[in-house]
Amino acid sequence: MDEAKPGIVSDLAERIFAGRWIAGPCVKDAMNVALRFNANGIGAIINYLGEALSEKKDISYTLDIYSSLIRNISSNSANSQISIKPTQIGLDISYQYAKKNYLKLTRAACKKGVFVWLDMEESSKVDDTIRLYYSALKLGNAGICIQSYLRRSARDITRIAASGGIIRLVKGAYTEPEEVAYGDRAEVTRNYYRLMQIMFKSSSKFMIATHDMPIIKRALVLNKKYHREIEFAMLNGIRNMDALSLAREGNDVRIYIPFGPSWFKYSVRRLREAGHASLIARSLFSRQRI
Ligand SMILES: Cc1cc2nc3c(=O)[nH]c(=O)nc-3n(C[C@H](O)[C@H](O)[C@H](O)COP(=O)(O)OP(=O)(O)OC[C@H]3O[C@@H](n4cnc5c(N)ncnc54)[C@H](O)[C@@H]3O)c2cc1C
Repeated sequence: MDEAKPGIVSDLAERIFAGRWIAGPCVKDAMNVALRFNANGIGAIINYLGEALSEKKDISYTLDIYSSLIRNISSNSANSQISIKPTQIGLDISYQYAKKNYLKLTRAACKKGVFVWLDMEESSKVDDTIRLYYSALKLGNAGICIQSYLRRSARDITRIAASGGIIRLVKGAYTEPEEVAYGDRAEVTRNYYRLMQIMFKSSSKFMIATHDMPIIKRALVLNKKYHREIEFAMLNGIRNMDALSLAREGNDVRIYIPFGPSWFKYSVRRLREAGHASLIARSLFSRQRI
C-alpha cells in the first residue's frame, strides 16, 4: 500500500517536495495543518493519500483512517471537509464494493456534519465516479470534482447541476489521450472559463479550485452578477498567501491538505504541473507563513 520509495534520494525528495505540500504521515498532522488554516479564516479539505488500491485489507485500513479523520474533525470543531479518491475505496475491485464503502463513509460523515468530496481520477473512471456520486446525492453532504481538460465535462456539469449536485471545478491532473481531453493548456483554461460560466448560470453552490488568478478574478466579477454561494480552493503549499489574501477580502476559501505516507504519485503530479524550474523554486522557497 505504501508507495514511498526507499533510499537516500527518495528520503531527500520526500523532505524537499512532499514536505512542502503534504501535512505529514498521520491524522494528527493533517488536523494540525487544518486548524492552522482555520485560525487564519481558511477552511480545509483533507485527503488521505493513496490510489489504485487492489487489496481489501488496504482499503479497509484507508476507511478506518477516514473514520478517524471524521471523528477528529468533529471533536476539534474544525472547519474541514474530506476528499476521497474512488480507487482508494475499492473502485478497482468493483463498482458495488466501492459504492458500499462510499455510502458507509458519507453516512458516517453526514452524522458528524462533515462534507465529503469525491476526487476525480483518470478519464476511464469518470462514469463510475459520477454514478457513485449520484448514489449519495440525497444525503446532502457530498460533492464531486469535474475536470476542465475533459471534452465531456460541459455535459456532465449540466446534468449534475440540474440534479442539485455540488461541483468542484479543476483543470485536471492526469495524462489523458487527445480523444478525451484537450492537450493544449490554453484550451484547458478556455474550457475552464466556459464551464465556470455554465456553473454560474445553472448552479447555486459550487467550488472554484485553481491557482490561476485570472480565473479567480473572473469568478469574483461573475459573482457580482449571479450572487452564488461559491468557495475558492487551492492545494496546500502552492499559493497559500494568495489564499490568505482572498480570505481576508471576505471570500470563502479552502485549502486541500493531503496527508499519509503515500506521497510519491501526488508529488509527481505537482512537480509536472510546476512546469519549469523557476515555478518549482517559487513554490518551494517563497515565504509561506501558513
Ligand atoms: C482543491 C483542489 C482539488 C483538486 N482535485 C483534483 C481532482 O480531484 N482531480 C484532478 O484531476 N485534479 C485535481 N486538482 C488538481 C488540478 O486538476 C490541477 O492539476 C492543479 O490545480 C493545477 O491547475 P491550476 O488550475 O492551478 O492551473 P495551472 O494553469 O496549472 O496553474 C496556474 C498557476 O498556478 C501556479 N501553479 C500551479 N501548480 C503549481 C505547482 N505545482 N507549483 C508551483 N506553482 C503552481 C502557477 O503559477 C501557474 O501558472 C485539484 C486542485 C485543487 C486546487
